[in-house]
Amino acid sequence: MGIKVAKFGGSSLCDAEHFRKVKAIIESDPDYHYVVPSAPGKRFDADEKITDLLYQCHRLVERGQSHEQLFRKIADRYLAIARELELDFDIEGLLIDTCNAIRQYKNPDFAASRGEYMNGILLSKYLGWDFIDAQDVVKFDRQGNFASEWTNEIMAQALKLHEHAVIPGFYGAYPNGDVHTFSRGGSDISGAIVARAAKADLYVNWTDVSGFLMADPRIVKNPKCIRELSYRELRELSYMGATVLHEDAIFPVHKAGIPTNIRNTNAPEDPGTMIVVNPSPDREKDQVITGIAGHKNFTLLSIEKAMMNAELGFGRRVLQALEDFGVSFEHLPTGIDTMSVVVADKELVTRKDQIIQRIQQTCQPDSIDISAGIALIATVGHGMTSAPGTAARLFTALYEAGVNIRMIDQGSSELNIIVGINIEDFETAMNAIYRAFVKD
Ligand code: ASP
Repeated sequence: MGIKVAKFGGSSLCDAEHFRKVKAIIESDPDYHYVVPSAPGKRFDADEKITDLLYQCHRLVERGQSHEQLFRKIADRYLAIARELELDFDIEGLLIDTCNAIRQYKNPDFAASRGEYMNGILLSKYLGWDFIDAQDVVKFDRQGNFASEWTNEIMAQALKLHEHAVIPGFYGAYPNGDVHTFSRGGSDISGAIVARAAKADLYVNWTDVSGFLMADPRIVKNPKCIRELSYRELRELSYMGATVLHEDAIFPVHKAGIPTNIRNTNAPEDPGTMIVVNPSPDREKDQVITGIAGHKNFTLLSIEKAMMNAELGFGRRVLQALEDFGVSFEHLPTGIDTMSVVVADKELVTRKDQIIQRIQQTCQPDSIDISAGIALIATVGHGMTSAPGTAARLFTALYEAGVNIRMIDQGSSELNIIVGINIEDFETAMNAIYRAFVKD
């Protein structure tokens, strides 16, 4: 017997039918002790998320307009769930109090948090479990930074008092008690925080897909699902744009050595993706790579200067120029007399000319070449460390697909090979790499 913490995303709790699925999942495994719900999400493509509606309510209040008509839409969603599930409590009273409190507090975070708060109460009534308000157990400092250790202490103490409890996701409170939220999608973080405090054996993140895919399905047709992924691989992939889990949800569980299982509420029999601390030795031997992810819109600054390698402080001065203008860089491949810096376009927008001027002044290079329109693709996998010829396979695939490589960067961990290519080659390159490594 272990302890499992389950987080259910908004699409997994969008209506009464999904609440039933959630209850069946929880009741099928006695190891579940704590559940972290999101607010009800979309029931169909054109539907609205409760969180979005709540932010809209707040905006109306802020403009001095009435939000009551809009709040009715929110109320109807919760009422329908409560009615269909035959929940016996004063849901009307809860809705009226919430509607009034949004007007009274005039705080966007408070308004947004009510989606999770009310859903948490509903789910706790439905499961017959205790309710712990996240406002009391998830703490931020005065600047709004998540206070991880303080939270862990308070949360662990609170959980000890409840064998089974529902703790709403997405929000917590400042030291003065005012509600503060994580960024959007933050219930993933709340779930990880609860898992850490509960010293759980597993954090199960229930969503609407059967796990992490090896590549973006909008670009690569029918990519395979990743069965196992390490936290480090996940970090590399999500940094490059792969999304299933909120980026910050990794830290509490990784730190505590707790694996995360991504599962599909609508296909609970699927094993999903297991995110582990260390890759297991029995990972498929022929699976060299774990996943591919990419991002568009980078600029490559290529700086050349004869005898650059002998000039003390050259690299530092280049990076100082970026830092002085508040620009962070992504990659830094260097040659003997050349240095390239890859920067996201959005970082450069207004500061490009000033930065170039500063580099000219402080580094006096022979030339600086600026190429915009670069895309980056990361090919990630622990298997690459032990498989000779991985780079050859990757570059051959790109060559055969007619893709010109503008930059190469292999992290020192050998977990990752990043290539910079022209934006127009992005889709071709993704497919070429995928086909080179993954058999159907
Ligand atoms: N309900 C919030 C959002 O829509 C948080 C979450 O679902 O994780 O972003």
